[in-house]
Amino acid sequence: MLYLNDRPLTAKAASLLVQYQKAVDDKPTFSEKTSEGKKLFARYNKKSNDAFKVVRGNLAEMSGGTIRCNYCEDSNANQVEHIYPKNFYPEKCFVWENYCYACGPCNQPKSDKFAIFEDATGNELNLKTIPKDTAPPKGKALLVDPRADEPLEYLFLDTQSTFRFVPFIEDANDYRRAEYTIEILGLNSRNHLVRARKVAFGNFKARLFEYVAKKESGATAAQLNPLIDSLKSEHHQTVWHEMIRQRSLHPELDDLFNRAPEALEWAAFSNQ
Ligand SMILES: [Zn+2]
Repeated sequence: MLYLNDRPLTAKAASLLVQYQKAVDDKPTFSEKTSEGKKLFARYNKKSNDAFKVVRGNLAEMSGGTIRCNYCEDSNANQVEHIYPKNFYPEKCFVWENYCYACGPCNQPKSDKFAIFEDATGNELNLKTIPKDTAPPKGKALLVDPRADEPLEYLFLDTQSTFRFVPFIEDANDYRRAEYTIEILGLNSRNHLVRARKVAFGNFKARLFEYVAKKESGATAAQLNPLIDSLKSEHHQTVWHEMIRQRSLHPELDDLFNRAPEALEWAAFSNQ
C-alpha cells in the first residue's frame, strides 16, 4: 500500500460533489443522512455521471499504469471505495479525499469494518459495536489512510523471506493501526497476495538487471525508456519501493542500484 498523491478534481466535478454532499448533510437525523448517502451514491456513482467520470479518471491515474487496487495492488481497481465507510460517516460520502480505488475482493470484506481510538477515552472502539443508527463518537481511525498517511511509515514488507507485511512503527497506537490495517485488508492472510509479492520482487530485479546490462552496453534512452515504463507498470509497486528502501539487505540489488542510481527515482505513482 502506497501513499496516493492527490490529483485535484476539475472545478465542475468538485462543485457537483459539494452539491451531492449538501443533500446528505441537509437531512435532519443521522439515520436519514446515512440512507440518503447510500441512495445518492448508488445513483451518482456511474461512469456516465459528470462528477464520477472525473473521480474515476483521477483515481485511475493515481493507481499506476495498470490501475491496480490501492489496497492489495494485485487486482484491477474498479470500485470507488470510501476509506471512512459511508454508513458511519455520511458527512464524507461525497468527499473526494475520502475516496480511493479498490477491487471487489478488497472492498467487500472491508465493507463497514472500521475502528477508531475514541478521543474521549483513548480506547479502541469497533464501530460495529455501537448502537445502530447512532453517529460514532469522535476519534482517530485505525485504518492507515493512503490519502492522508504514508503507509510505508507504518508497514514494512519482509522482502528477505516471508513477503508478509509487519508493523513498523514504535508508538503503541500507530503499531496497532498498522496491525489493524494488515488484518482488515487481508494483506497477509490471502496467500496469493503473498506469493504475488515474491514474484514481483523477482520481476523487478530481472527488469533492473536487464536495464543495467543494456545501459552498460551503450543502449540509447529510446531503448531504455520502455524498460523503465514497464517497471513502473508492474503490479505490487510497494515491492519496488521496499527494494529501494531495503537495498542494503540485498547485496546483488544494491550493486544494481549502484550501477544505475537513477533507478532509485523510479517510483511509479507515489512520487508523480
Ligand atoms: Zn484489492
